[in-house]
Amino acid sequence: MGIVVQKYGGSSVADAEAIKRVARRIVETKKDGNQVVVVVSAMGDTTDELIDLANQVSPLPPARELDMLLTAGERISMAVLAMAIHDLGHEARSFTGSQAGVITDAEHGRAKIIDVTPGRIQAAIDEGAIAIVAGFQGVSQTTKDITTLGRGGSDTTAVALAVALAADVCEIYSDVDGIFTADPRIEPRARKVPRISYEETLEMAAQGANILHLRCVEYARRYDMPIHVRSSFSEKEGTWVVKSQDVAVPDNQGENAMEAAIITGVAHDRSQAKITVVGVPDKPGEAAAIFRAVADAQINIDMIVQNVSAAATSLTDVSFTLPRGEGQTAMAALSKLQTSVGFETLQYDDSVGKVSIVGAGMSSSPGISARFFEALSDAGVNIEMISTSEIRVSVVVSETQVEDAVRAAHAAFDLGSDEVEAVVYGGTGR
Ligand code: ASP
Ligand code: MG
Repeated sequence: MGIVVQKYGGSSVADAEAIKRVARRIVETKKDGNQVVVVVSAMGDTTDELIDLANQVSPLPPARELDMLLTAGERISMAVLAMAIHDLGHEARSFTGSQAGVITDAEHGRAKIIDVTPGRIQAAIDEGAIAIVAGFQGVSQTTKDITTLGRGGSDTTAVALAVALAADVCEIYSDVDGIFTADPRIEPRARKVPRISYEETLEMAAQGANILHLRCVEYARRYDMPIHVRSSFSEKEGTWVVKSQDVAVPDNQGENAMEAAIITGVAHDRSQAKITVVGVPDKPGEAAAIFRAVADAQINIDMIVQNVSAAATSLTDVSFTLPRGEGQTAMAALSKLQTSVGFETLQYDDSVGKVSIVGAGMSSSPGISARFFEALSDAGVNIEMISTSEIRVSVVVSETQVEDAVRAAHAAFDLGSDEVEAVVYGGTGR
């Protein structure tokens, strides 16, 4: 008998009907001879509604109380789901994150899991019950206060529990059939990827693909826990996220076999903004001062480009991208440096988007960037910034050209299938 951890996202438990459907699926897994642990997200848009509610009573709710409020969303789904399973004649017991032994640090709103002690969960499944755990939450080791793991954190709860219970697999259910070569809403010919490595999934998630919580993939990679990403609305096999040695090169694809392996997918991100510091004196310490100010404002930056300084003026421009939500904070922090650094002006542009191609095969095949950039040029897309990793090439383009860029890259690497494979059952993609 194996242990299966299943996580159901908000769209899979959006209403009573959906919860009953999920309950039937869980019972089937149990009947197949597995011990089943289920992690649930809050129903539908509950988390957003709770945040709105908090903001109506206070523009800046205390982080401790906001966490207490938000964890209520998952408590609703876990109890209702347990009831639905009881109604099918099976025993289910629900547990809060704290009861399930999810121990975190004390950083409200973005707590990190530091230990999982799933004694009560193990006991429940050993006694034949189905355990239901509230996702996205834990309890601080030091303050004993209730914490949340950050938006989308239920994926991480599921993987952490799967690791602590030595489960065979962590199944993550959403409203799409798996991980696709591009967002099917933009590229209807996107194909489902049967197997993908942790590293590629991390790059895709970090570059804006709305597939899995980044930290859940990091966790799974660290402990080598296979993740099966699939839809709760269909019985189809989804995408397996596994270690790179277990991702086979696709065969039976004739001449395209090697090409298919080079690029795994195209990700895009519309959540970024670009700041350009214009006319920075080209001397040591200037970049340090600029990025120190941004770091001290607790802002995470992504791409950085520094131009070669113009010979006549010895002035250069430094551009970088950052999350749009932090744009104004960064601009304020940088304005204070204008006299000490001596730059000319600051420019802020939040109508940009990032498009990335990801694939483990690119590190050993030349010409990938060239082919990507040619495809963008043929589609009339202008590149504003470029960054690369060993298995990724990203460009910043105008927001209005993001969709064209995704489709152009998808076609350039022959990622499309002949028939439309992707079905989006719910609406949120999670
Ligand atoms: N309910 C939380 C959110 O919406 C956590 C999750 O869905 O994973 O962010
Ligand atoms: Mg959610």
